[in-house]
Parts: sequence; C-alpha cells; structure tokens
Amino acid sequence: MPPTTFRIAIIGAGPGGLVCARVLQRYGVPVTVFERALGPVGVAPGGPLELRAATGQAALRVAGLEREFRAAARPVGQELRLLDRTGAVLHRDLPEPGTPAERPEIGRRELCRLLVDSLAPGTVRWGSYLRTLHPRGGGRHQAVFDDGGSATFDLVVGADGTWSRVRPLLSEATPHYSGVTFVETGLDDVDARHPAIARLVGRGTMMALSAGKGLIARRDGRGRVRVYAALRGSEDWAREAGVNTADAEAVRGALLTAFAGWHDRLLALLRDGGEGFANRPLFALPVPHTWPHTPGLTLLGDAAHLMTPLAGPGADLALQDGCELAQHLAEAHTWQTDPDRAVRVYEAALFPRSTAAAEGAARGLEAALAPDAPRRAHHLLRRRHLHPHGP
Ligand SMILES: Cc1cc2nc3c(=O)[nH]c(=O)nc-3n(C[C@H](O)[C@H](O)[C@H](O)COP(=O)(O)OP(=O)(O)OC[C@H]3O[C@@H](n4cnc5c(N)ncnc54)[C@H](O)[C@@H]3O)c2cc1C
Repeated sequence: MPPTTFRIAIIGAGPGGLVCARVLQRYGVPVTVFERALGPVGVAPGGPLELRAATGQAALRVAGLEREFRAAARPVGQELRLLDRTGAVLHRDLPEPGTPAERPEIGRRELCRLLVDSLAPGTVRWGSYLRTLHPRGGGRHQAVFDDGGSATFDLVVGADGTWSRVRPLLSEATPHYSGVTFVETGLDDVDARHPAIARLVGRGTMMALSAGKGLIARRDGRGRVRVYAALRGSEDWAREAGVNTADAEAVRGALLTAFAGWHDRLLALLRDGGEGFANRPLFALPVPHTWPHTPGLTLLGDAAHLMTPLAGPGADLALQDGCELAQHLAEAHTWQTDPDRAVRVYEAALFPRSTAAAEGAARGLEAALAPDAPRRAHHLLRRRHLHPHGP
C-alpha cells in the first residue's frame, strides 16, 4: 500500500492523541481522531498540568503551538518542602528568586482546546467510543464504534488512556491498583483566606509524610492549593469504613481520624477546605510494559505506560510520544518509505524511555508512602531522585 493512501486513526483526544494528530497534519499526513466525549469540554477533566521544557513544551514547539501555550500557561512556584507529621521541615528546595518557571502549568481543558483548535475542522469525531477492533489482514484493522459506525485503517494508534480498548490487542497487561488512594480536595484564594496554609505550603509543593500516609499540597498559578490525602490500603477504604464518598463531611471526619496525631497546622489542610473530596485510587501498568511489534497497531501516553502521578510525568510523556510517533510517520510519508518501520523506530525509543519513567514513578510513590516514611523520600530528595510532578 503506498504511504499516500495510508489511513491513520487515533483513538482518544487527550493531550497525546491530539498532539500526534496536529503534528501529522502539519506535515500533510491525513488522520482522524475518535473520541468518546461529546466535545472538547468533556476531555481530560482534572487539575492543571506542569509541562517540562525538554518534553511536553518541546512537543508543543514541534506542533507549532509554542505561542499559544505561552499565552495560556501560568508560571507556577517550584519550591519543594518535605515535612514530617509534627510539621518539622526536613528538606527544602528553593529556586533562586527571579528564576523563570521551569515547568509552567496549563489547565487540561485549555491544553486540549488549543490542540483541538489547531486541527483541520472535522478531524475529531466526537461521541465515537471504540468498542472493538477486528484484524482484516495486511496489518489493517476494522474499528467498530458504539454509535454503529465502523471503518478500516492501516494504523490504529491507541491514545485512549488508562482503560485502553486498543491495548488488549497488543498485550495482556491491565492496570493494577497501586495500593495507594489519593483523596483530593482544595482551597481557593489561600493568601487572603487561609494565610497560615499559604505559609505552610510555600510557593510550590509541600509533602508531609509519615508511616504510609501523606498530606500533599500544591499551590497552582491561580492562588489555589490542591490537597491530596494519600492513604495506603484498600481502594475501597471508604466503603469499608462505612463512609459515603459523596458526603463531604463524612469523608472529612474519616480523614481527620486517619490522620489523628498529626500536627494541627497540617490537619488544617483537611479541616479548612470548603469543598468536597474526590476519591482517586491510583492505578499503574506493570513495569516494564512492552509489546511485540504488531503491524497496524501501536499505543502512546497512558495507554502505553500508565504510571502513578506523584513522581510520574504522564502528560509530558504523552505529548512526547504523540509528537515523536507523528514525526516518524511524517518522515515515512515524505520519503514514501514503509510506515510500519516508522512505528518500529518509535516503539524502540518509547520502551526504554517509558520504563525509566515508570520505574521512577513507582519508586517515588513507594518511598513517599513507605512504613518508615519520610526517611526514604528524604534520601531520594537529597539525591534529587524524587521530583514530584503530579498529582
Ligand atoms: C489528578 C492528576 C493530576 C496529574 N498531573 C500531572 C502533571 O502535573 N503533569 C503530568 O505530566 N502528568 C500529570 N498527570 C498525568 C496525566 O494527566 C496523564 O498522564 C495524561 O493525561 C495522559 O494523556 P493521554 O493523552 O495519554 O490520555 P488521557 O488524557 O487519559 O486521554 C485519553 C482520551 O481517550 C478517550 N477515550 C478513552 N477510551 C476511549 C474509547 N474506547 N474510544 C474513544 N475515546 C476513548 C478519553 O475520553 C480521553 O479523552 C496527572 C494525572 C492525574 C489523575
């Protein structure tokens, strides 16, 4: 099949799938993105993403969207504090005053919207949930969607996140519960309304850790502090404790009990927030996660290497994957060479990169929530082997 008629489908309009589509289109390669959400507003809910210069920001540069990113991104403090449960500060990284934000943040919706706006109209088919893929010979696959539509493609790229429907055709791996749940809440306008919390958290991230538990707080570029109560234990902790997760006061009470004995300044993070709590059990794929090269299929982003967010640069990697895959395919398109070889080259670089990142993410979470915490996390931070990136 000559590369000019090569049909590419990307499943999932998250950061990884969208940047892949954008870079392909910049090089004149036709592509269609299928997304289950009905429009960009429904894509990738959650907190802001901090993107690194060498990975996420570099991918946006290749996509020709550096100016749009700069306009939408906000500087965010890079200070990092490690405390114990008494509130004693064990470690502090304080960037020099005036240092430009190495990892500016952008809202997930803003990022997805600027990518969607950069695509040719009609590139994303909203409301298209991929149900199954049927091999049709010669590396081609027929994609069947929930709305009854179906089409056959020469390459299907699974950019469909944690519970990918493309992944089972390549590997038997499924995401497993990491043993850690984050319960998320937040406080707005901390400088004016919660000055003691503003001082506690500083200009960046504060982690208070002790014996398998953690209170992690991150100030974003809008003066809001996101708080994650990290608990090691069952993903059904709330049900087992008889707590309805929709009942904010019941969750607050259960968390204050779980963190009993922690310094009152730290407990204020749970006590003083006016909003509800979101339960986020953390899942990850086994490490390493690789697959035998299979013509006509590949994965990128969380579909390829879901990792826990505390020290895992998930969005950065998704953007880097999407950009690199598109560049290799575009080169094959330009020179009329074999696109399957382009996918092999992409996968050969992807596997070691994602394995190293996933190992780091697992090591970071393990150290942060270890029975002897904060000892190991302190050790990793001193050696600069723990870089909290998310959540
Ligand atoms: C709370 C939180 C905070 C985080 N903070 C950071 C951070 O600061 N920095 C960072 O680098 N990473 C962060 N991460 C990780 C990051 O969000 C993910 O790694 C990133 O979104 C992965 O992008 P993706 O494009 O691979 O997948 P996703 O963003 O998950 O997108 C997948 C898309 O596929 C669609 N989809 C799924 N199944 C189908 C289907 N069958 N058919 C059609 N469409 C489908 C989904 O609707 C979705 O739009 C954070 C994660 C969480 C949970």
